[in-house]
Amino acid sequence: MREQEIICTICPAGCHIQVSGQGQDIKSIEGYSCPRGKEYAENEFLCPVRTLTTTVKVDGAEEPLLAVRTAKPIPKSKLFECMDIIRKERFRVPIEQYQVLIKDLAGTGIDLIACSERKGDPYDI
Ligand code: SF4
Repeated sequence: MREQEIICTICPAGCHIQVSGQGQDIKSIEGYSCPRGKEYAENEFLCPVRTLTTTVKVDGAEEPLLAVRTAKPIPKSKLFECMDIIRKERFRVPIEQYQVLIKDLAGTGIDLIACSERKGDPYDI
């Protein structure tokens, strides 16, 4: 039996929710104050996800780094694998805001997208 305390981050109340269960089976869940918190804790216990935000290298731009993020949250267990892939990539301007830079990142089905546009360096010929 696995037991986990999860702090709900949905609202500032920050309820401490105790979840216990085995595999994909939740046996008990206590400490939440609303249905949203219960759902959050269930998801965190069964398959925690996070939106990955980082920067990538871009060639041909005045600023060499560009902020990027996953289009949706990805499984937490995939974060390091995704970062390994992202670290090895280089991109070239121009890049549009929300442009897909890596499709289906690490087989998650979620794309990596640019947070903002990036134009070319005007002095780069
Ligand atoms: S359980 Fe409900 S009240 Fe508590 S932190 Fe989460 S959203 Fe807020």
